[in-house]
Amino acid sequence: MSSKMNLTRAQFDEVMVPNYAPSAVIPVRGEGSRVWDQEGKEYIDFAGGIAVNCLGHCHPALVGALKTQGEKLWHLANVMTNEPALELATKLVDATFADRVYFANSGAEANEAALKLVRRYAMDKFGVEKDQIIAFDKAFHGRTFFTVSVGGQAAYSDGFGPKPQSITHVPFNDIAALEAVFSDKTCAVMMEPLQGEGGIIDADPEFLKAVRALCDKHNALLVFDEVQTGVGRLGELYAYMRGDVVPDVLTTAKALGGGFPIAAMLTTKEIADHLKIGTHGSTYGGNPLACAVGNAVLDVVNTPEVLNGVKLREQLLRDGLIAINAKYDVFSEIRGQGLLLGAVMNERFQGRAKEFLVAAINEGVMSLVAGANVVRFTPSLVIPEADIAEGLARFERAVAKVVEA
Ligand SMILES: *Cc1c(COP(=O)(O)O)cnc(C)c1O
Repeated sequence: MSSKMNLTRAQFDEVMVPNYAPSAVIPVRGEGSRVWDQEGKEYIDFAGGIAVNCLGHCHPALVGALKTQGEKLWHLANVMTNEPALELATKLVDATFADRVYFANSGAEANEAALKLVRRYAMDKFGVEKDQIIAFDKAFHGRTFFTVSVGGQAAYSDGFGPKPQSITHVPFNDIAALEAVFSDKTCAVMMEPLQGEGGIIDADPEFLKAVRALCDKHNALLVFDEVQTGVGRLGELYAYMRGDVVPDVLTTAKALGGGFPIAAMLTTKEIADHLKIGTHGSTYGGNPLACAVGNAVLDVVNTPEVLNGVKLREQLLRDGLIAINAKYDVFSEIRGQGLLLGAVMNERFQGRAKEFLVAAINEGVMSLVAGANVVRFTPSLVIPEADIAEGLARFERAVAKVVEA
């Protein structure tokens, strides 16, 4: 395509809906944690899509899985099942608390399925008045109208007409606020075990215990949105495995396909039985190509070598950011866990995280923001140590530019 057409960033504004504001450069090729743009300039990738490319770009195992499946069978309607989907569901069941899997194509779709499931379960078992969903300020659960309404940023859900009802938001990590709104009308709590988009905010272990206890007391289900934290991001296969609190429903997407769109909702048999034939579905959900790639991702990620490697890389990245901060005094803290880290702007740089991201692109390193005050780092789980060092050196130059500007 690009050989016939001269494609430029300027064309974005001519042919695309203006809901995104992409950066000035257009990447065309990636290998591991390095990416090259149209001009041949090289970048270290500390973003990984947005915590998506968990094995970097064009990992040989994923390319192999895609090619092999691509020459066999691409798609079937869900009136038939397929081997890659059965294999991946079996792996997810074997690796987690879950007995049942529903496949979707995106995080929002997996969460939409989870929200419909918890409502249906509560209505079947306890009656239609048990419909309250409790969620948290700053939470992010996707952009469908139900998921964006459960998300905790009104700016994303306002302005589209009447919203889905019976959704209550309370501050994250606030046990008293949660207790105050909980009742037998509560159908479910939906939460990220570590808030990503909201600013890299981890759940306190005590808070998690309280959520679980309140759910049990009031026959409510606990839904963990692990779309960003899942598939090794925090150094465990899923974030819930860090502690004793096990959810009833878990959603996973982003890294599950390593760059190929796929998502899943995991739950127990008892709960799953309430999504009876015809109650929910998706044309592409469980697509053989996506599941073949998902199988390859899990085979690589769910190993002690890769999961322990996340903790080692976390240390390198965290130490590097702390060292940069010691020199330039720009962050108030480095927070998060595993390879989901946030550098929080201090008083002097309030609201200016995006400036660091833009300066970093100029210096040849890709990062992300999580709100206006946090620069977010979500590199590949297998990023080479040398690339971490080089990316940090480039990021330091970017920090120097912003500070000296
Ligand atoms: C990215 C994200 C989503 C939405 O996923 P999409 O694939 O964009 O629909 C939902 N929840 C969390 C926690 C996310 O980080």
